[in-house]
Amino acid sequence: MSTSYLYHAQGIRGYKCQKTERTAETEIYYTISKASHCPCPKCDSIETSVVKTGKTRDILGLFVGLKKTILRVATRRIICQDCGASIQEPICFCSDSYVRHTKWAARFAIVLRADMSIRAVAQYTGMNWETVKEIEEDWLMKKWLFSEVRFFRGFLRQCLT
Ligand SMILES: [Zn+2]
Repeated sequence: MSTSYLYHAQGIRGYKCQKTERTAETEIYYTISKASHCPCPKCDSIETSVVKTGKTRDILGLFVGLKKTILRVATRRIICQDCGASIQEPICFCSDSYVRHTKWAARFAIVLRADMSIRAVAQYTGMNWETVKEIEEDWLMKKWLFSEVRFFRGFLRQCLT
């Protein structure tokens, strides 16, 4: 049930929910990756082993009603036999390795920004002001790059015909 909820309501695939904790204001989902084998993020070798670190990382998800959602992810390390790297397993539902919110939470913040100030979005989503600002900057940069690429493609087509 909780694993299905993570998929349908939070956009999280490939992770299993081990247990749930509830407080008056927060839902905490203890999750772990289902992948038994991961390629090396550095050299793409499949000669790797995955080890649990015993540590967790808290990721902010979408709110459930008025409750904050925390995904407490059990972190693992990928150890590569080919290049010797020991790298933390990337979390696929986060946009980058250092962020502390899901891709869906970032998308929700962008939707809210159409009608709300950065400060109001930060208060509503539980993120800090800087995080909301960075999410918006990343989104604007992707939007701008996409429009530039589309313009350049159109320009090339006109030149080639
Ligand atoms: Zn490697």
